Amino acid sequence: MTREIGHFIGGKHVAGTSGRTADVFNPATGEVQATVALASPAEMRAAIENAASAQPAWGATNPQRRARVLMKFVDLLHRDMDKLAEALSKEHGKTIPDAKGDVIRGLEVAEFCIGAPHMMKGEYSEGAGPGIDMYSMRQPLGVVAGITPFNFPAMIPMWKFCPAIAAGNAFILKPSERDPSVPMMLAELMLEAGAPAGILNVVNGDKEAVDTILDDDIIQAVGFVGSTPIAQYVYSRGCAAGKRVQCFGGAKNHMLIMPDADMDQAVDALVGAGYGAAGERCMAVSVAVPVGEAAANLLMEKLIPRVENLKIGPYTAGDDVDFGPLVTKEAYARVRGLVDRGVEEGAMLAVDGRDFKLQGYENGNFIGGCLFDNVTKDMDIYKTEIFGPVLSVVRAKTYEEAIDLPMSHEYGNGVAIFTRDGDTARDFCSRINIGMVGVNVPIPVPLAYHTFGGWKRSGFGDLNQHGPDAFKFYTRTKTVTSRWPSGTKEGAEFSIPTMG
Ligand code: NAD
Repeated sequence: MTREIGHFIGGKHVAGTSGRTADVFNPATGEVQATVALASPAEMRAAIENAASAQPAWGATNPQRRARVLMKFVDLLHRDMDKLAEALSKEHGKTIPDAKGDVIRGLEVAEFCIGAPHMMKGEYSEGAGPGIDMYSMRQPLGVVAGITPFNFPAMIPMWKFCPAIAAGNAFILKPSERDPSVPMMLAELMLEAGAPAGILNVVNGDKEAVDTILDDDIIQAVGFVGSTPIAQYVYSRGCAAGKRVQCFGGAKNHMLIMPDADMDQAVDALVGAGYGAAGERCMAVSVAVPVGEAAANLLMEKLIPRVENLKIGPYTAGDDVDFGPLVTKEAYARVRGLVDRGVEEGAMLAVDGRDFKLQGYENGNFIGGCLFDNVTKDMDIYKTEIFGPVLSVVRAKTYEEAIDLPMSHEYGNGVAIFTRDGDTARDFCSRINIGMVGVNVPIPVPLAYHTFGGWKRSGFGDLNQHGPDAFKFYTRTKTVTSRWPSGTKEGAEFSIPTMG
């Protein structure tokens, strides 16, 4: 019997009633290991109403008590780390250490949210005018939602629901239908940690569920992470319905390698950041830009054997694996098609992983590491986010030519420069039009107490994820101006009050 994954609503597992389901695969074997319910609009609306009835009491709970739920949640994540990582790897395909990293990067945001009482503090101005005091307070929005992608099924849901719930909101999570088990486990753990029933709900589904969230009157804010076309769609439709919306999209992250860079360090960084998690990371490096002929030749000389020797396999093979399979057959066909396209376009495929096969896993979605040299700006493989273990090398003659590449690309998520020269690094950090920048750091994902967000078509909306921005996003400010005049009990003012 195939396992059926329903929804988690009002503190309970409930079966789907829409009659629509999606298959959940084991990416290493290609087998269907579960089916997941796809919510109907009526099921989604019922979950939202349930959340709306739970929220007022939670919003009125003092912030320290709410923070204690997150404190306990962190403990439970540690307790269940192995179980969570195993469930994650089984549906996503990433290695166990990488799956633990996925959980831990979410856990760190939960830790940050233990400071919610501090983040919720308002401002106060005593004596803003004669007998006048002015103060602002942050209040929860009510019911808010998160729509998340397949590639970080633990981290990104936690980036969304931890700050939202710590701020006093009730949350509807619509995770990816490709790997829904871990989000369901997180909801169970939040309940065990003390979040009242109805405060964190997981409603599985596809476009129908998403559209219902976007059009619903009760939902006040939507945080989305996924591909750029869907990010833009969610942003437009959610904003048109008058909601607060933030959407984070795709990427094409460049890494510049200056002639003075430590080449061994740069090669290590490129291998990890280009091929880790099979390239299915929004912060993966997918374009390497060596500056100058000598740097390019040396880079290729060192990179080719490293890419040829990448170890690919199922997560069950343990520490002996660098990365696993792609998430679905569709993802495999798409990545393979783009590599074919690169060859047709005239790029030099220095390492060809297309025919990689693993004995016993012939139906898995495995593809070997691919490395292109002599890629140019006009090629589809340069313009498109491939989201697979494929690195493109674009050779630049000068620093100016190199910096122009990420600056004129449509995406602006992450970027890195490898150099020993502080002046070049400073210039790069100052001029680059990209949200997250690494200096001799290939994947500059900010820690939980800073914020994460891309520029250009990698991000829609004006606040970032986690860090202080998340509390701004999931709360609204109310400002009170109060006057307690002494002895003035009557009289009206007809001109606008000023403090002059
Ligand atoms: P996706 O856009 O296919 O799906 C994301 C979410 O949107 C899922 O919950 C999915 O069910 C829903 N969805 C899909 N199609 C929809 C439609 N037509 N209408 C409404 N909702 C729809 O993305 P994915 O394949 O799950 O994730 C990979 C993408 O996410 C990559 O582009 C990657 O760069 C991006 N990503 C970005 C960040 C970031 O913070 N910028 C982080 C992780 C992943």
